[in-house]
Amino acid sequence: MSRDFVLNSLTLSVVTPMYNEREAVDHFVARLRPVLDGLGVTYEVVAVDDGSRDETVERLLELREDWSELRVVKLRRNVGHQSALAAGLKSARGEYVVSIDADLQDPPETIGDMLAKARSENLDVVYGVRSDRSTDTSFKRNTAGVYYWLMRKLVGPHLSDQAGDFRLMSRVVVDTLNDLQEQQPVYRLVVPSLGFASGEVTYVRAERVAGETKYPLTKMIKLSVDSVTSFSAAPLRVATWLGLVTFMVCLGLVVSGIAAWGFGVTVPGWTSLYIAVLLLGAVQLICLGLLGEYVGRIYAATQNRPKFLVAFDTDEQEPMSTKPEAVSIEAAAVPTQLATHR
Ligand code: UDP
Ligand code: MG
Repeated sequence: MSRDFVLNSLTLSVVTPMYNEREAVDHFVARLRPVLDGLGVTYEVVAVDDGSRDETVERLLELREDWSELRVVKLRRNVGHQSALAAGLKSARGEYVVSIDADLQDPPETIGDMLAKARSENLDVVYGVRSDRSTDTSFKRNTAGVYYWLMRKLVGPHLSDQAGDFRLMSRVVVDTLNDLQEQQPVYRLVVPSLGFASGEVTYVRAERVAGETKYPLTKMIKLSVDSVTSFSAAPLRVATWLGLVTFMVCLGLVVSGIAAWGFGVTVPGWTSLYIAVLLLGAVQLICLGLLGEYVGRIYAATQNRPKFLVAFDTDEQEPMSTKPEAVSIEAAAVPTQLATHR
């Protein structure tokens, strides 16, 4: 069987970014494999190791010894969930691609429903929509509530507030995403904005099977800032409005100052000066910060550095049709395997 034939006949790619998921990976594989084997389609699982510092890669390579459909793409360093997803989408070869987290919060059993729906209704995107998030912490639910409210204002009302990164996409959608020039794509916003024919399947969000969340507050804030700035220049307008409001206030102060001078009541005036200086300084700093967010992004875009670097990809080592040997990290990470993606 030629390699091309094998590649072109892949129906499904399951892309999973993994960061320090050593504790979850066995559970994940044990639950995912029977589901995919039961679908009766050709598939690959693209496990993208996002620069884990635990033994995630080593364990994946062991598991791959008796699951040749498991493909391991190791990134050189931690680039974050969305960029790791970008690496997986770039590597995936399936006619349909499903992205799913490694912690089993999204049930793999739903993949079958997504595929069936996409095929029967001829859809390009099928979103996994959470019908119940009660297993998430109330902090996560509340912050997610604010996030989706804001994003719907910016991206449009069609954005489902319960759709995360568990979704199925057809080849044409994945190719479109791979061609995006964006430095920090937030896929859960970009995909709905493209306007492909889409449907939904609902599922109940489970608890993380093992380990801790890999999304601390700092990463949540980064995702939110990326989301807002990649979809809207509205914050720049906030700066303009703030400037206008303070300008009006200052005009009033100027008038009252002149009047006070005219009436000869020009007392030391420390308080008013103090407040004016503080207020203006603060507003200017806010506006500078907002501008900086966008300038920083323009800077990153002109540098055009790769979003991620692949250290190795087990499927670039040998054709898929042969039973792979275990790939040692050292042997796999030869310089010729270095792939750069923008
Ligand atoms: N993840 C990643 N890189 C990161 C952080 C997270 O690849 O820098 C992966 C993680 O391994 C998981 C998915 O992204 O498969 C979602 O992360 P997590 O489940 O910790 O987020 P939460 O569900 O708590 O929002
Ligand atoms: Mg999770």
